[in-house]
Amino acid sequence: MKSFSQFFGEGVSCPEGTKWCTKCAKCLEVPCQDKEMKEAAGSSAAEDRRDKQLQKRQLMLNRQKLQLQMKKVAKAKQTDMYLQTEGAAWTKKSGKNSEGGLNEKGRKSYEAENPGSDLKRPSKKAGNPRRASFCARMKGMKRKLTSKRTASDPDSRINKSLRAWNC
Ligand SMILES: [Zn+2]
Repeated sequence: MKSFSQFFGEGVSCPEGTKWCTKCAKCLEVPCQDKEMKEAAGSSAAEDRRDKQLQKRQLMLNRQKLQLQMKKVAKAKQTDMYLQTEGAAWTKKSGKNSEGGLNEKGRKSYEAENPGSDLKRPSKKAGNPRRASFCARMKGMKRKLTSKRTASDPDSRINKSLRAWNC
């Protein structure tokens, strides 16, 4: 490759391995004009790389967002279909057991309508915190929300429930 000075025929011949720097007016291994060109090329290449990485990241994030949305929609659809076909079993007789609690079908249906809930079969063990909170809730309901007739009826659902949990 011809040096800058040779190219423009300035008549300055630099020793091998050096080039004429027009700015410094001397022979240099890397003259200023070459340095600037290199830096410009280097920084623009780095910017290009950064831009591409950003674009890639954005693309990935968008894809992840889309997948999450699709999952949500799919789950909502599933729940919808389940409730439509099962008709919210926990509100119906098919979802209740003869002891007044919810059977497996009823529990599943209640959980579908109340995401995050995890109903378990009643545990009669004393000291079971689930049983303690259930009993407290049920007793409160019996006090405040139940008519005297229902409250004193041993076959009422609330009394059956209380018995099932050994409250
Ligand atoms: Zn220079």
